[in-house]
Amino acid sequence: MEKIPYKIYLEESEMPKAWYNVRADMKNKPAPLLNPGTHQPMTAEELAPVFCEELIKQELDNDNAYIEIPQEIRDFYKMYRPSPLVRAYCLEERLQTPAKIYYKFEGNNTSGSHKLNSAIAQAYYAKKQGLKGVTTETGAGQWGTALSMACSYFQLDCKVFMVKVSYEQKPFRREVMRTYGASVTPSPSMDTNIGRAILEQFPGTTGSLGCAISEAVEVATSTPGYRYVLGSVLNQVLLHQSIIGLETKAALDKYGIKPDMIIGCAGGGSNLGGLISPFMGAKLRGEADYRIIAVEPASCPSFTRGVYAYDFCDTGKVCPLAKMYTLGSGFIPAPNHAGGLRYHGMSSILSQLYADGYMEATSVVQTDVFQAAEEFARVEGILPAPESAHAIKVALDEAKKCKETGEEKTIVFGLTGTGYFDLVAYQKFNDGQMSDYIPTDEELQASFATLPKM
Ligand SMILES: *Cc1c(COP(=O)(O)O)cnc(C)c1O
Repeated sequence: MEKIPYKIYLEESEMPKAWYNVRADMKNKPAPLLNPGTHQPMTAEELAPVFCEELIKQELDNDNAYIEIPQEIRDFYKMYRPSPLVRAYCLEERLQTPAKIYYKFEGNNTSGSHKLNSAIAQAYYAKKQGLKGVTTETGAGQWGTALSMACSYFQLDCKVFMVKVSYEQKPFRREVMRTYGASVTPSPSMDTNIGRAILEQFPGTTGSLGCAISEAVEVATSTPGYRYVLGSVLNQVLLHQSIIGLETKAALDKYGIKPDMIIGCAGGGSNLGGLISPFMGAKLRGEADYRIIAVEPASCPSFTRGVYAYDFCDTGKVCPLAKMYTLGSGFIPAPNHAGGLRYHGMSSILSQLYADGYMEATSVVQTDVFQAAEEFARVEGILPAPESAHAIKVALDEAKKCKETGEEKTIVFGLTGTGYFDLVAYQKFNDGQMSDYIPTDEELQASFATLPKM
């Protein structure tokens, strides 16, 4: 048989022309967003002051399996996609494992992550609606960077609320965003009612995604011509990220490769949801089976230690309620170094699939994650983002198990981005000064108490 190349690329003509909506194949649909006042499902009209119209349609669409990618978005995708699917021959050799390891690398763009896949779509629909600009939050900064790039392309204004701890730890991310023309405000800020209230209650707080979301929503809904956009968690974001999985599946199919397991890191669930979508679709339709593993940080363990319940999406409780695996919107995780995985909740789609037993989840501590990141970087060359390294850690563990058992499993994992802006974290690790923080049951119970009473 023809040797599988190190990098499997798709031709431009083989690139997906439609996103795949896994909800269409789910028997148990993800629970709808609820109005926090009435506890009734949010209607398109109620969502309209917050989100762009076309994105609301996508958010509420549980039925159409394929949604065409507009030509303008496909043209932008062509500048940095298709992303390579890499066969990690060198890593396999180093590990002396019979496992076959593949990773889908999403770090080949200036934002350094998969987030551009949804940012460009969301900016496109905002522009098409004739809006002036959009607001958003960013944790580690990848989403804010991606959105800044997308907004500058479509000449939209972009206001980013950046979690304070990241704003201070990652000044270079901030400058990239400003270079693309975005305004960047550390959150909580004194610019919004909710920011002022949070600062009064928790002076000196380093902020959280939930808090930054509240600020961004407040500004979007109180400024004419603006809407709010979100980089993860929402159904529409998973839909856009399905481009990752569709390309991966097309590349594997070219060589008749069937993965045994698919591994991805999970923050709000968008890269994992996107990567697994077409595979999960096949699984849901009973056509194929795969082990699907979500990897989350032990410091923010939504799947593995959270509860499956309706919760607020933000600290300020201005957003709709979502049913998801959650740690409670009051949960403020320890300031670990995988900023993109610090959200208290999880995509409703993935939450339902996890509840129904279609996927597994595991959590890992950050020193193990950085150990795995270095093991990977030293063979494969790419400097991974700490978020991505969660998936690497579990992929390496599985490959090492194969060495013991002699099984030739095919492992696919999502390498979501690069870690050039995370060198302070790498420095801590290299200096032996990184610690692992795992929340106690008491801490989790205290934040579960912040769940809405339904
Ligand atoms: C944001 C981010 C993640 C986590 O977000 P998901 O929505 O769970 O995919 C993972 N990796 C990188 C590099 C990120 O920027």
